[in-house]
Amino acid sequence: MNRRVEANHALETAAAYANRLKLPLLVYEGLTCSYPYASDRFHTFLLEGVPETARRLARRGAGYVFHLRRRLADPDRALYSLAEHAALVVTDDYPTFITRRHNARVPAKIGIPYLAVDSSCVVPMRLFEKKEYGAYTLRPKLHRILAQHLHPVETVPLRVEWTGSTSPLHTEVTESNLATLVAECEIDHSVKPSISYRGGRLAAEAQLRHFLANKLRCYAEDRNEPAAHATSNLSPWLHFGHISSLEVALAAQLAAAENGFGAAEFLEELIVRRELAFNHALHATDAEALSNIPNWAQETLRKHDTDRRDPVYTREEFEHAETHDALWNVCQKELLLRGKIHGYYRMYWGKKTIEWSATHQDALSTMIYLHDRYALDGRDPNTYTNILWCFGLHDRPWQERPIFGMTRFMSLEGMKRKTGVDAYLREIAHLEVAGKDPFAL
Ligand SMILES: Cc1cc2nc3c(=O)[nH]c(=O)nc-3n(C[C@H](O)[C@H](O)[C@H](O)COP(=O)(O)OP(=O)(O)OC[C@H]3O[C@@H](n4cnc5c(N)ncnc54)[C@H](O)[C@@H]3O)c2cc1C
Repeated sequence: MNRRVEANHALETAAAYANRLKLPLLVYEGLTCSYPYASDRFHTFLLEGVPETARRLARRGAGYVFHLRRRLADPDRALYSLAEHAALVVTDDYPTFITRRHNARVPAKIGIPYLAVDSSCVVPMRLFEKKEYGAYTLRPKLHRILAQHLHPVETVPLRVEWTGSTSPLHTEVTESNLATLVAECEIDHSVKPSISYRGGRLAAEAQLRHFLANKLRCYAEDRNEPAAHATSNLSPWLHFGHISSLEVALAAQLAAAENGFGAAEFLEELIVRRELAFNHALHATDAEALSNIPNWAQETLRKHDTDRRDPVYTREEFEHAETHDALWNVCQKELLLRGKIHGYYRMYWGKKTIEWSATHQDALSTMIYLHDRYALDGRDPNTYTNILWCFGLHDRPWQERPIFGMTRFMSLEGMKRKTGVDAYLREIAHLEVAGKDPFAL
């Protein structure tokens, strides 16, 4: 999950073990065609990261195998073949999607130690042994120990350089062969790459620099105004691990201190809210199920599950942005074109999907499907936790009303009152026509 050479606790753990065992370090990065929703969008973003990872690992003296499994009929044994020649495997501890299942399955199949390290959170998620009720219970616990963890990851120099020959499992990825490689893979070619976000470390660093220089100062005030473009847009790179939340937090703190403004609101989202999502995903048996929402929310939704909906849309109508509501449709189009939705409108998108789905379970399935298939930052602990937030997870009861019961409601009038809806409609209409994003870096 954490596909980067910098600020990576798993990589540094592997380096320390390699030194202790007087062995070289080989980094294996795999990309298969068989994972659910594999598409041109995700493959392109991931492959865009590979050449820079290769350069940086070579500079550190580590070996690198990037294995692209193009077709379902191709062998799926790269990790096992490499592990046959290894003393130890270090990987990511990650609580959702295929990585969780992988980590549960692989250790029994290889006869060597298998260590899963948390390189995703600032404060390791396993330090919080219970499922938290909400940000209000996690925040004080997290802040109590944050200073111990909020410091740069030390780079461990490798004592034994990798001198092995290139593995037959390795696929060379370059700027010029990338599109051909994607085309050769047996994946969903109908989901096109994002028109806004390019994968990889260099793009992540550029995005962070842009945010720190131009946006962080107005984040607290403008983050809920999509037309202000005041948020970091870092979630795709955070999801694929091209950049770490730890690096981003340290850089934001420094920029804020140097320029005399605050970063507290940004750090609240980046650390407290994000790590609350990891806490949920880690401790839930099925992080995507409605059974995870608090009892009051389950009861109130049960009472209102058969309430009459008007209109009711099918998954296909939602997917093709064919509702009566222009704001909902452009949120969906932003997902289709950019691969993410602005955070504030994403809440509206979720709430209205509940209002116009036949049942609560249908609404949940639609939201998960659309995120899994189209969101560059999807399939993440943040995905499932925030979708369940729309059903009351980590929230409190509000005034009772049809369909929603006592879970929070959001209205179009509220959005129009608080945000520049028209500006957003124009922006996304332009994206659709131009096929290019004027806000892309
Ligand atoms: C229905 C719904 C679905 C969502 N699905 C996803 C998803 O698939 N992936 C995803 O990363 N986020 C998701 N979110 C949370 C949030 O909308 C995004 O993290 C945010 O919009 C990402 O944009 P940004 O990087 O510009 O955020 P910024 O505002 O710049 O925040 C910086 C980082 O903090 C974290 N963050 C921000 N808001 C939240 C939040 N509410 N909860 C947890 N972490 C947060 C993210 O890692 C984000 O990149 C979802 C929210 C809702 C309501």
